[in-house]
Amino acid sequence: MRNVIIIEDEKDISELVQLHLEDMNCHVKSFFNGRLGFEYALKNEFDLMILDINLPEMNGIDICRSLRAERVNSPILMLTARSEEIDKVLGLETGADDYLTKPFSIRELVARVKAILRRVDIDTKHEENVEEEILEYKELRIDKRKRKVTLANKRIELTPKEFDLLYLLATNPGVTYDRKDLLNLVWSYDYEGYEHTVNSHINRLRAKIEKDPNKPDYVLTTWGVGYRFSDN
Ligand code: CA
Repeated sequence: MRNVIIIEDEKDISELVQLHLEDMNCHVKSFFNGRLGFEYALKNEFDLMILDINLPEMNGIDICRSLRAERVNSPILMLTARSEEIDKVLGLETGADDYLTKPFSIRELVARVKAILRRVDIDTKHEENVEEEILEYKELRIDKRKRKVTLANKRIELTPKEFDLLYLLATNPGVTYDRKDLLNLVWSYDYEGYEHTVNSHINRLRAKIEKDPNKPDYVLTTWGVGYRFSDN
């Protein structure tokens, strides 16, 4: 049984989402108030949060950021009302894993939720099988088990997706992945049109790990194709 938290003040949306998640064998806890949902999420483990942005008392972006600051790393799927909010979700280091723009179809919601939960399963299985996995290149050190990245011995804070992206590239140095591959492997999407999600994550990753993001040492661009980790 998966524990899912929904924080959404539009009751008809909340109820509809809850109904479909329960069909997927999830145990669902719903909140209509941002602050109450946040306080519950801090004290209770969950497998997925579905989070609206505009909420009474505490908005979704603050909730997401505050949870990440408290090292709550469970997946968060944000619901955005306007497409302008997407930049906010992706750009402002909220730490959200994914987003859906309202109005969304239930089929799309279910597909996203399944993709997220599948990734959680893969990660968990992987962690059970692997004792320790550390990748080192130049000043960068990636500890898969601890999901910890250091650069010249200083810890770099990455969002879950930034970490997954870096880890995938770094385990296969010199191999170029196009944006579609990365969407598939890191986000488990096969949708068209979300390639900018990859670009935006790559830019933020570079800003965190590269001395000069315009002349990267680690995450390189293969022009016209995609990205690869340095194998020099
Ligand atoms: Ca709302």
